[in-house]
Amino acid sequence: MQKLSGIPASPGIAVGRVHIHMEDQPPVPRFSVEENAFPEELERFRQAVDRAREELMKLRDRTETVQNGSNADFLDSHLLMLSDSEFLSRVELGVQESGRNVEWVLHEETQSVVRKLASLDDQYLRERSVDIHDVGRRILNHLMYRERISLSDLSREVVVVAHDLMPSDAIDMNKRMVRGIAMDAGGKTSHTAILARAFEIPAVLGLGDFSGSATDGSRLIVDGSRGLVILDPDEDTLRDYREQLSAYRKREVQLMSLNDLPAETRDGKLIHLKANIEIPEEVDAGFSHGADGVGLFRSEFLFLHAGRIPDEESQYQTYKQVLEAMNPKPVTIRTLDVGGDKIIPSLINYPEKNPILGWRAIRFCLSRPEIFRSQLRALLRASVHGKLRIMFPMISGVEELNRALEMLESVKTEMKAAGEEFSSSIPLGIMIEIPSAAVTSDILARRVDFFSIGTNDLIQYTIAVDRGNERTTYLYEPFHPGILRLLTMIIDNAHNAGIPVGMCGEMAGDPLATMLLLGMGLDEFSMSSVGIPEVKRIIRSVTMGEAEELVGTVMDMRSYVDIDAYIKKLMQERFDVRVY
Ligand code: PEP
Ligand code: MG
Repeated sequence: MQKLSGIPASPGIAVGRVHIHMEDQPPVPRFSVEENAFPEELERFRQAVDRAREELMKLRDRTETVQNGSNADFLDSHLLMLSDSEFLSRVELGVQESGRNVEWVLHEETQSVVRKLASLDDQYLRERSVDIHDVGRRILNHLMYRERISLSDLSREVVVVAHDLMPSDAIDMNKRMVRGIAMDAGGKTSHTAILARAFEIPAVLGLGDFSGSATDGSRLIVDGSRGLVILDPDEDTLRDYREQLSAYRKREVQLMSLNDLPAETRDGKLIHLKANIEIPEEVDAGFSHGADGVGLFRSEFLFLHAGRIPDEESQYQTYKQVLEAMNPKPVTIRTLDVGGDKIIPSLINYPEKNPILGWRAIRFCLSRPEIFRSQLRALLRASVHGKLRIMFPMISGVEELNRALEMLESVKTEMKAAGEEFSSSIPLGIMIEIPSAAVTSDILARRVDFFSIGTNDLIQYTIAVDRGNERTTYLYEPFHPGILRLLTMIIDNAHNAGIPVGMCGEMAGDPLATMLLLGMGLDEFSMSSVGIPEVKRIIRSVTMGEAEELVGTVMDMRSYVDIDAYIKKLMQERFDVRVY
């Protein structure tokens, strides 16, 4: 039995068999090949191409059965590439000319084609670079004798163990088959952690080099609430965890009884509790946990899921689907926030030195107006199907906000001229997640209808601590006095300007923070649906007076260690909030 502690990223307990998920991009070997070994090298290449072809054909047959052919087109184009004699002979010639192994030559060749395509103006051709990359990887996997089972292909229940699962892997995984996740890398507010919570899959991240010591098929317990994993547990531990699992489920069921009750304090202040969603299917979880609407729809997951830019029509259909499902409850759709850890190779195809500080979100959208305008058009068209609110991410100051607003206005003008319908009352809001926006929130508040505080990034940028880095998690502290001062400043500035303020960062779903945020005057809390009942239970048990008193006490404290200890003790004693 081996016990290891990491970061509690998604609560709950999972017991199951390990499935090691291999990295998509292991280093490609590079070595010299003697001339007399060329024939063997070329034969290896041909066999790998044949196996890749068989694999693709099987995948296409299966996709056609499941999806009625609608999404199988890209598989056909991949198959076509595998028969492209020019591409194949370039690789073969490359081996003979360079005297290098075929893996390396193939890698170089595909990278060079990908780079060329990615630099073109033609959007269609640019997007093809992803296909070349995929096909190259598929052949490489066979050359390197790696069978990489995609998480969407899982056919038995497993606990996924990985070094670093990308958000794009997590969004595509077969959720019914993944009982738990254990990962070497990652922090509590990394997007993979957020997805695990959204899908209600217990997860422990930041486990160092755990994936190297676990073997496929061994038994593993993932305790996502305490941040523990136990490999090959003994019988007593297993029994103990099975009991804990049933107690956990019982508590969940009890909490669900609050679903139809309002989130109202004992002295009558009504709070809006909303759901954060990444895919339209999560709307159901929002309903079953009593959400008052969607407070954050991270639209970029549509793009990540497709691996390319979805066209205006398919975006419109998705937004419409969510709006109709929620109607008359409001839905806040955030415009594209790619970049950072959410990379779509066809959109951002060169490595940045500091992606978290780089070409992300609204910065990306303003410099790619064709993408931004198409999303805005899709949103405006969908607005007639429900209560849409539009929100811009990563606004750093008023100039950037003005440019985004101008773009929205010009799309509206264009649509009006074309006689296209859209709602005339769409509230427009921004995320406050960059310190400069927080500090100038009095100025920004005059230009918009609402704020939503993104604590995941606000904490990252204020404390200068990467939210996805397990080594610096100890610094990622929501109760840091610097963060609490910013939060009160933002909330007060919003209220002084007469606009409501919500929070959609992970802090909004942390029961330890509920009373404090309530006392600061937050109007709306938006979180993974699973967290709503517990936050509601706390809100319904306090008065605003008590919550405000807590803010007064805490704001006088100097260190986050003291604040953390004080709040944990209070919330545990008074509300039986679980503290691990
Ligand atoms: C945030 O930064 O708090 C937020 C909600 O946005 P995201 O987690 O998608 O960056
Ligand atoms: Mg953010």
